[in-house]
Amino acid sequence: MAHSQGDHGGRDCLAGAIDCDIHPAVPSTRVLLPYLDDYWREHILRRGLERENLETSSYPANAPINCRPDWRLPSGPPGSSLAALQSHLLDRLRPSFAICNVIHGAQVMLSEDLSAALCRAINNWIRAEWLDQDPRLRASIVVPPHSAELAAEEIERCAPDRRFVQVLLLAMTELPLGRRQNWPIYRAAEAHGLPIGIHAGSSFRHPPSALGWPSYYLEDYVSQSQGFAAALNSLVSEGVFVKFPALKVVLIESGVTWLPASLWRLDKTWRGVRSEVPWLEQLPTETVRKHVRLTLQPFDAPPTEKQLQTLLEQLGSDRMLLFSSDYPHWHFDGDDALPAGLPADLVRKICVDNPLETYPRLKETMR
Ligand code: ZN
Repeated sequence: MAHSQGDHGGRDCLAGAIDCDIHPAVPSTRVLLPYLDDYWREHILRRGLERENLETSSYPANAPINCRPDWRLPSGPPGSSLAALQSHLLDRLRPSFAICNVIHGAQVMLSEDLSAALCRAINNWIRAEWLDQDPRLRASIVVPPHSAELAAEEIERCAPDRRFVQVLLLAMTELPLGRRQNWPIYRAAEAHGLPIGIHAGSSFRHPPSALGWPSYYLEDYVSQSQGFAAALNSLVSEGVFVKFPALKVVLIESGVTWLPASLWRLDKTWRGVRSEVPWLEQLPTETVRKHVRLTLQPFDAPPTEKQLQTLLEQLGSDRMLLFSSDYPHWHFDGDDALPAGLPADLVRKICVDNPLETYPRLKETMR
């Protein structure tokens, strides 16, 4: 997103912002070994899994979008160095907090037990090697999403550490996210004041498009917004926000432009068939504006500022967008992490007010 530093896009206005999506990468499964219990350490060594890094990103590893050229590391996967994160982002843009979202094969394992063991190890690793090392960092709890019971246990285990500020899921999992089998996750999250972050991604139990398996990564990536739309439709229609009225959901790396059209269809159809979902007593759009937030990058902004204004009007709320850099992925150059054309008062909301409202645990240590 090209525009000059000096207006609201530059470094100064980002100082004190809350970056709601950064991606520390597990450099290799070997680094997790000390954070596993004895049984799982031996299990992984026997299977030779320590030789794999269990990376799930579908980004082609060497594609420019996978990592900004100036953020690549001499060795190791992008995002795997705390020192690099500090110099590239934390010391340069000076956010007050950055929320670590680890995307890892642990979230897609078919074995629920192995999935849970690796998620525990990742949460222990991020706590010891990132959160303990830099007071600006916060993290999402990584959970085994295909076992709601084990996921809820992991939320209970991690929640007492107030630096965990969210529970992380992927948009496309085994079941639509609103289904009642998933509710133990939402119950535990709500009880601890933790939003559910739903990041772009799939556990590939199903094709990313409703049509079947695509041939190209281009199709996979563009289909993500359909996955988010379906996940949101499921959460709203199944009544998750009625059952858990204090729950917030953050759609992370979903883009924004798909949302108004999707909500329009949801509202219109709800008017016609609302008798089958009698627990939905208000327009789906009103529920979404109250409970759902979206991170900013990558912002699929329309090409002109006028069109951007129209999009913001269609969203109908200035409380929904949360600042994110999506470090280390390449969505902007230099320090221009904010799209051009956002009004100054909205920038303040996106960077500070909305994240603080969404993540109440951040307020406890806000400087
Ligand atoms: Zn992301």
